[in-house]
Amino acid sequence: MKLLNVFALILTVAVTPAAMASEKGHGSHWTYEGSAGPEHWSDLDPKFSACAQGKSQSPINLVAGKSGSRKIEVDYKPSALNVVNNGHTIKVSYDKGSSVVMDGNKFNLLQFHFHTPSEHTAKGAPYPIELHMVHQSDDGQLGVIGVFFKEGAKNKALSTVWKRANDHIGMEHTPEGVSINAADFLPADRTHHNYSGSLTTPPCSENVNWNVMVTPLEASSSQIKKLQRLFKANARPVQKLHGRSLSIMK
Ligand SMILES: [Zn+2]
Repeated sequence: MKLLNVFALILTVAVTPAAMASEKGHGSHWTYEGSAGPEHWSDLDPKFSACAQGKSQSPINLVAGKSGSRKIEVDYKPSALNVVNNGHTIKVSYDKGSSVVMDGNKFNLLQFHFHTPSEHTAKGAPYPIELHMVHQSDDGQLGVIGVFFKEGAKNKALSTVWKRANDHIGMEHTPEGVSINAADFLPADRTHHNYSGSLTTPPCSENVNWNVMVTPLEASSSQIKKLQRLFKANARPVQKLHGRSLSIMK
C-alpha cells in the first residue's frame, strides 16, 4: 500500500510539469469537471474573467424567439483533413478559401470541432453531439454555425473524421489523400437560431455571432459512443440569457 502511494506521488511529480508546459501558450489548464471545471474557469486566469462576468455567454437553451428571414450563403470547398485531439475536443483545421456570408458579412471557415453532449439545448433537452464550425471575418468578428446530431443512421462525413480521431493528444495529422467537405455537415433545411453569444471555452470572449441549425443530422450509436469514449463529456452548461433576444431565421 505504502509503496503504491510513493509510486503515485512519483507519477504525479513526473507528469505535472510536462502537462503544464504543454499548456503554455494556450492559457491556464482548464477542464470540464472538478477544480478546473466550468464553474471555476474565471478563477484560473484573469484573462478568463468573461466566463463569470460576461452577460452574453454561450451556450444557452434555445427557444423559438422572434421569426425572421435570413439566408446563410455557404461557399465551402473540400479541405484536407487536418485533425487533432487537443485534449478538449476533436478539431479539424480547415484549409483556407471556404466561407459563408451572413448579413452581408463574409466569414472565413477556420475549423470545426465536436461536443458531447450538445452545449446548446433545444427546449431544455440536449442532443448527443453538437458540431461547431468556427468562422472569422476579415475584421476579426467570430461567427459559429452549430449543428446537432441525433442518434440514427451512420453519418458518412463523420466516419471520415472519426477514422482518424484518436486519443493521442496534441498531434495534428493530415492523412494523405483524405478530404472533407464541411458542406456535408449542414442540414438541407437551414432554418436556424441566431443570437449574440460567446466562445464556450475559455477565454469565453463575447460578440460571437451564433447560428444553430434547428434540424439535426444523424449519427449512429457507435459514432456517438466514440466521442463519449474520448472525452466522456466536453460541454459547458447553459448560461443565463440576461435579456438577450433570440431569433429563428428561415
Ligand atoms: Zn465548440
